[in-house]
Amino acid sequence: FTSARRRIPHFARTTRTYASIASTSTAYDVCVIGGGHAGCEAAAGAARTGARTLLLTQKLDTIGELSCNPSIGGIGKGTLVREVDALDGVCGRVTDKAGIHFVMLNRSRGAAGWGPRAQVDRKLYKRHMQETLHNYPNLDIRAASVHDLVLDHTVDDTRPHPWASVTGVRLETGDTIRASQVIICTGTFLSGEIHIGMKRFPAGRMNEAPSVGLSGSLRAAGFKLGRLQTGTPARILKDSIDFSRLEEQLGETEPVPFSYINSGVDNARKQVSCYKTTTTPLTHQIIQDNLHLSCHIQETKKGPRYCPSLEAKVMRFPQKDHHRIWLEPEGYDSDLIYPNGLSCSMPEEVQIPLYRSVPGLENAVLVKPAYGVEYDHVDARELRPTLETKRIKAISIKGLFLAGQINGTTGYEEAAAQGTIAGINAGLAVLHRPPLILTRADGYVGVMIDDLILKGAEEPYRMFTTRSEYRLTIRSDNADLRLTEKGRLVGAISDTRWSHFLSTRNEIIYVTEILKSFSHSPHGWRKLGVQFDMRSDGIRRSVFELLNRGDVTLDVIKPLIPELATMDPRSVERVAIDAQYNAHLRRQEADLRLFSEDESLVLDPNIDYSNVEGLSSEVRERLALIRPTSIGAVRRMEGMTPTSMVSLLRFAKRTH
Ligand code: FAD
Repeated sequence: FTSARRRIPHFARTTRTYASIASTSTAYDVCVIGGGHAGCEAAAGAARTGARTLLLTQKLDTIGELSCNPSIGGIGKGTLVREVDALDGVCGRVTDKAGIHFVMLNRSRGAAGWGPRAQVDRKLYKRHMQETLHNYPNLDIRAASVHDLVLDHTVDDTRPHPWASVTGVRLETGDTIRASQVIICTGTFLSGEIHIGMKRFPAGRMNEAPSVGLSGSLRAAGFKLGRLQTGTPARILKDSIDFSRLEEQLGETEPVPFSYINSGVDNARKQVSCYKTTTTPLTHQIIQDNLHLSCHIQETKKGPRYCPSLEAKVMRFPQKDHHRIWLEPEGYDSDLIYPNGLSCSMPEEVQIPLYRSVPGLENAVLVKPAYGVEYDHVDARELRPTLETKRIKAISIKGLFLAGQINGTTGYEEAAAQGTIAGINAGLAVLHRPPLILTRADGYVGVMIDDLILKGAEEPYRMFTTRSEYRLTIRSDNADLRLTEKGRLVGAISDTRWSHFLSTRNEIIYVTEILKSFSHSPHGWRKLGVQFDMRSDGIRRSVFELLNRGDVTLDVIKPLIPELATMDPRSVERVAIDAQYNAHLRRQEADLRLFSEDESLVLDPNIDYSNVEGLSSEVRERLALIRPTSIGAVRRMEGMTPTSMVSLLRFAKRTH
């Protein structure tokens, strides 16, 4: 083993992608490519660990651009934003500054289904994101388009397969920048192509160049690329809409901030309204009559999977004669309205009658056309739980991470959550520290990454609460209690956030003690004037138990315990929610124990599956592709038979 890690220079010379390293004056620990939602969080996350980080993006003024809808959060997605915030990420705080209309979706249901959502002012969002990142410690930002990866090939006789490490990136100008970890967050730009009707032209977003070189580098390095599609609606001139007949939706008067460290949002007293309308049978007829005029739809039938557009909804649900549309303002000083639900890729001349068939839009003036975009994505089964790439085909690439739309997801929140994990882990890799790996039980971010790396994304992956088996415990109200300490342990949480978290946690513990110790017998409760259906069994029951049984609400209890009025109302509400879910929590504990046992049976990602007895060749092939890192992950893989499970369990226990 003395000659381990020899260089093989001829390998570097013969392959375009594996070009040798040109000398550069500056070297970074982490280089993030792309200033979208994944890239912003990846850059901030890596910088938080202390790594010297560079964010490279095509244009500085599109950092934090909301490519499609001017809103953040929603059901499932809102919890992802809270999880990013709990790990000290930036998008929650930026939303609290840029939000112009806040609602808690599903508020009338249990807290497990709540979805914090905000309509944001597009310009304010970008401005606050850019200000935040430009002032972020350890982070430099440069406008540049990355053309290629620079890899260093070595041989390591201790490893069963050849491998390479990333040493930097090559820009379109020909310059190279050195970095030991690279995170690609290029969104819809990899070989992006815009579709409007039968027109198609290369672009990552409207009026922005696609990223072709990088697509080629990834393919040349052996990554499996696929094509996905998404689309955006036309923007409508506000003054051309007749809002008078439409249902108005007001923002909540006391908006709940996204960030755990904020007690309020900037524009709580300046919220704007959204309006509800629907498509009509005529809208659907126009779509049906013109499907042959959309190359996007024709392509969808043949190959690439899409993010649902109006055409897709009409085709999938022919029995429905209307679909809901929300008319959402783009910002305070914008005269544009975003019609949420009218995303399509019809020819421009068809879009006008199509939009005008919607109540309120009879005289709509379309300012920017709707369009679809098709782009390359990487098969996420080629990633580890840290979002670093693992062995692909013949070689492993060390130090290369992927986050966001490139992994087959869709949505700002999904991208931001992946960026956070990739950024923190790239920073930790530089410091040779153990990675931050979140499981399905830790949060939606864990669920999403687990789903992606085990199953890939057949169609654009978005977060739904139903994807999680632990959704009663991983709620939007408790992301900090689930994640902030984990983030602090790896060094990715600032002192300010940590001290804020500690005081919140202490207060929650204190309020819990109060609610558990304030107890009375049925007779005592009756004397206090608390009415509920109770047996006269003489048993003392605490407020916590009564909340759990649904016997009382917090509003009934608050006047009885004056001390609660001195506490942060958010902490009091959080304890009441915890009390409501306490019984589920205890039931889930057994599931969680089993889950943890399976997760602790770790599998070496370099296992040679041909040496594991009792596996069918199909299962062997699947395992060799996905390279699961635990027995738990194997259980969640598709196509695993009970016999293969037993064989692998035996193997894992023998080698553990
Ligand atoms: P992006 O936000 O796309 O950011 C990519 C960044 O990388 C950009 O800043 C770009 O300039 C930069 N970049 C690219 N290549 C290079 C390079 N070679 N060098 C340097 N920088 C580079 N999501 C939904 O949830 N619902 C929708 O309906 C929806 N519709 C969409 C419609 C359209 C037309 C588009 C474009 C996107 C839509 N999205 C939708 C997706 C949403 O915008 C993305 O999910 C989200 O922005 C992904 O974030 P990201 O960080 O991965 O990439």
